[in-house]
Amino acid sequence: MPDAKSTMMDMHRSGAPSSATVGTARCLSYNLGSVRKAIRLCVEELPDMQEVFRGAHSVLLKPNLLSSTRDPEAHINTHPAVVQALAELLKEEFNCEVAIGDSTGSLGEGSTARAIENSQMDRAAQAAGATIYNVDTQPRHVLRFPAGRIFKDIPLPSNLDQFDLIVSVSKLKTHTLTYVTGPVKNMFGLVPGAGKKQAHLLAPRLEEFSTVLCDLYALLHPRAAFVDGVIGMEGRGPASGALRHVELIAASCDPVALDSFCAKVMGFDPLSIPLLAQCHERNLGVAAPGGIVVRGEPVSAFAPKNFAKPPTDGQAAITRVLPRWLFRGVLKAISSRYADIDQGRCRRCGECARNCPSQAIAFDERTRRYSVNRRRCIACHCCTEVCPSDAVRMQSAWLRRLT
Ligand code: SF4
Ligand code: SF4
Repeated sequence: MPDAKSTMMDMHRSGAPSSATVGTARCLSYNLGSVRKAIRLCVEELPDMQEVFRGAHSVLLKPNLLSSTRDPEAHINTHPAVVQALAELLKEEFNCEVAIGDSTGSLGEGSTARAIENSQMDRAAQAAGATIYNVDTQPRHVLRFPAGRIFKDIPLPSNLDQFDLIVSVSKLKTHTLTYVTGPVKNMFGLVPGAGKKQAHLLAPRLEEFSTVLCDLYALLHPRAAFVDGVIGMEGRGPASGALRHVELIAASCDPVALDSFCAKVMGFDPLSIPLLAQCHERNLGVAAPGGIVVRGEPVSAFAPKNFAKPPTDGQAAITRVLPRWLFRGVLKAISSRYADIDQGRCRRCGECARNCPSQAIAFDERTRRYSVNRRRCIACHCCTEVCPSDAVRMQSAWLRRLT
């Protein structure tokens, strides 16, 4: 990104892209040789991606490092073999300088450094001759983005413009707030530390949060994306779901199209997902399945039977249509969702309280318990993402249960 601002702004395309190509490859395991083969096959299927890689010198690979504590076998984070294989290919075939970077989902001193170590991204980087770019330890600035609909002042590393290409390398997972998490949402990890929590406060409802993600995506413009779906996550993703062998590695120069393809693999209508519907409406990529050409095996070759959807299935229709002021008023109390802590599972680690953007979780010295203040809870799911013992569940107030 020689000039971050102008390159990012190029994202705003003059017209709707009419088609996009997704390359797919079957990959049975995280054996490095198998992953290398699958990554190479995807790139061979995509001449436009080869062109993008040829034109890049300095590349940032952005894996999903949601968990700072779990190892690769938990399959919450992008697997290091996928990142290593891609970094090797970029260096060896395209002569690129490669960095691997993210800011993890958990706040706290050194949490991203721990995520890099526990996810084994440091080893992947070393093996591939890449460097580590810890988003949380970079100098920061707030980038003014007037084209954003909600997220107009975006905190980012101020040296992000050293990269002339960002590649989203996400994990195939469901998400209890946004239905799925894929290449587009993965860009949220480039917002350092507490900036992510502020974004949740700025946009507490699903539709608004999707707009924030869309704004960020429009600004950052990753021009290539890969998805690690060798082992994906169903049900209570992105951190507490069940693992599912999908055996998929896929790529595209249109991250929206790749997100849409993966949503279909997980059994969703892509345009029913607010984030993808907004990307479609804002011409940020091809989300409509009819516009996506697949090279390699099709959706049906990967889609597992009875892939479990996240339990919340997004926010109920009634809360989407309520005016913001009304949502924040009386009706919130009877129509919203809120977090609840299962005291039997809770380890009293405090991660949820540290990561709650609205300070809705407090420790009671008398009972020695963490509990949630429902009135303050904005149902952002940050606590469910970071809880190491799957002790937080989202509950529905009575009006929502009727919808
Ligand atoms: S609910 Fe989870 S994150 Fe919160 S204190 Fe208990 S174990 Fe830790
Ligand atoms: S309690 Fe959990 S869901 Fe509610 S605002 Fe805090 S982090 Fe978000």
